[in-house]
Parts: sequence; structure tokens; C-alpha cells
Amino acid sequence: MGFPQITGHQVQKDFLRSSVQKNRISHAYLFSGPEGVGKKLVAIGFAKLINCTESEKENLDCECVSCTKIEKGLNPDVLVFEYPDEKTIKVDHVRQDIDRFVHLAPYENPYKVFIIDDAQRMNSNAQNAFLKTLEEPPKNSVIILITTLADMLMPTIRSRCQSVAFQRLEIGEVKSFLEKEKPEVSNTELVSRISGGSISKALNTDEDFFSKRTQYIDCLMSVDERKPLTLFDSVEKMQKNIKNGGPQELKMVFEILSTWLEDSVILKTSGEKEEIVNADLFEQLHEYSERRNLPELLDKFTALEQTMTRISENNANVEVSLENLLLRLSR
Ligand SMILES: [Zn+2]
Repeated sequence: MGFPQITGHQVQKDFLRSSVQKNRISHAYLFSGPEGVGKKLVAIGFAKLINCTESEKENLDCECVSCTKIEKGLNPDVLVFEYPDEKTIKVDHVRQDIDRFVHLAPYENPYKVFIIDDAQRMNSNAQNAFLKTLEEPPKNSVIILITTLADMLMPTIRSRCQSVAFQRLEIGEVKSFLEKEKPEVSNTELVSRISGGSISKALNTDEDFFSKRTQYIDCLMSVDERKPLTLFDSVEKMQKNIKNGGPQELKMVFEILSTWLEDSVILKTSGEKEEIVNADLFEQLHEYSERRNLPELLDKFTALEQTMTRISENNANVEVSLENLLLRLSR
């Protein structure tokens, strides 16, 4: 996919395009911003742009040899490092995968491009090793770091990269994307709202998501209404799903519950129906929000946020944390 086909991010694409036109390509970039908005697609689009043998075509995907090979992941000069199975990116990864190749001349293109996804997962040794590469920028190489959490990278790394910050896509942009690329999705408006401006989240908002949403919101409602025995029943159900689905499932639980609580706060304060995410559940949401006062809703929201932090940053026990959370939500 070339720049013209990538949804949104006009400012970022224009900036990168003009750096090519003005012959001011940096040796390192830091692409930061929310998950699933298309940072990696833009990075790959940029790799095409600087290596394209025809000037980038306006509306069609370029089919020159270089672009075609990049699209298929077969261009020897464009390397994407992801490490999905590793918890952290270690110094050996940097040495073996990047350092070894970074100073070699490109095989068949003007530039070698190294794209490192989730760069914040580099541990401190890896970051220090990587810094050395950045300090002696290799000729004809472009390094693109992609991250959702730029603050986790050392300031000395950040300051050596040209920063390109990405934002969430507009709901309308996600909707147009779905209408064009996924005509089988019928409820594009709702899915786009739920996506929060992330294409990858929109693509994961499927039947399974909607059934989980019903389940987790029912769970929240039942503990909240202090129905006898539902608390432990609910914890058990959630735990079972999380055990099967892992961290992704846990993330889904939190996202579903927090958009629900955010929606109820919006209804309680501005009453703007247009701003809520779970627009299809308006009646239920309205009833929920009417029966609680603002401090109660905000307290539940805080409880949820604190639990998320405890689990993700402090490695708290998931089962115990969920039990505590649901107890607090039932008050
Ligand atoms: Zn091309």
C-alpha cells in the first residue's frame, strides 16, 4: 500500500513526502501514536517512496520492482523487526538483526530501511546498543522506530530521531475505510465508534466482540445491582475467558467496561447522545446512568483505571485484582 491508499494521516504523509522532495531524508525517525492507526503502514509506504523507481503514482499502487517486493516483504533492503513472541527486545536482537546489516550498502535500492515495531519493548541494554548505531548514522540507511509509548525510549534515542507523531483517526475516516475495504460489515457507524479511531480495532470488532460486550456489561450490571452470588459467578466467567484469551482478552474486558462507564459519565454530564460509543445500547445505558450519581460513576471509573495499572505495570495477580475490582464496582 502506497501513501495514497493509506487512510488518514495527511499531515504526516505530506511531511514525509516533502522531506523526499527536498532531499532531506533523516537517518532515523520516531513514529509515535496510538495502537492500530497505521503507523507501520506509513513506515512501509515511506520505504516505498524513497526507493521507488517510478515516482509514486497518484491513485494506484505502484508496481515497480522495488515497491512490489516491499509490498510482498521480499525486498532485501527493507526489513521489519517485530518480535511478537518476545516480552522484551534484547541487546542480541539489536546486534544480530540491526548492527550487523546497518553499515552494509543497500543491495538493490537507494536506501536500506530498518523498521522496528513496538520499539519501546527494547530493554535498557538493547536501547544502549541501539543508541550507538544512531550516534554513527550509517550512510544510505533509514531507521524507523514505531512506538505507542515514546516515553519508554531513552531521551538520547528520541533526540536523535526525527519525530513524527500520529493521532487517532477520525471516526468518519474509519467508517470510510470499512465501507471501502470491508463491505461485509453492516454496522459501520457503530464499529467505527467502538474502534476509537483505530483501524486494527475496527477490524477486530466482530461478532465475537459483540457477544463478549454483552457478557461483560451484563456482568458489570449484575454486580452493580448486588444480585446475590453473581459476583463470584461473574469473576469466574471472566477469569475463564481471560485464561483462554490471554492479555488480549483482558484488554478487551477493560476497554468494554471503561467505554461503558465513560458513556454513562457523558450521559450524566453533557447528555450528548452523539458522543457516546455504545450508541446501540442507548436505552440500557441511559437507565444505568440515571440510577447513579456522578461521584459513584467516577469512582467506578477510577477503580477500573487503577486495576488496569496494577495489572499492566505492577504485575499484580489478575484473579485477585479482578475480584477486588468487581467488589469495588458492586458498592
Ligand atoms: Zn514504485
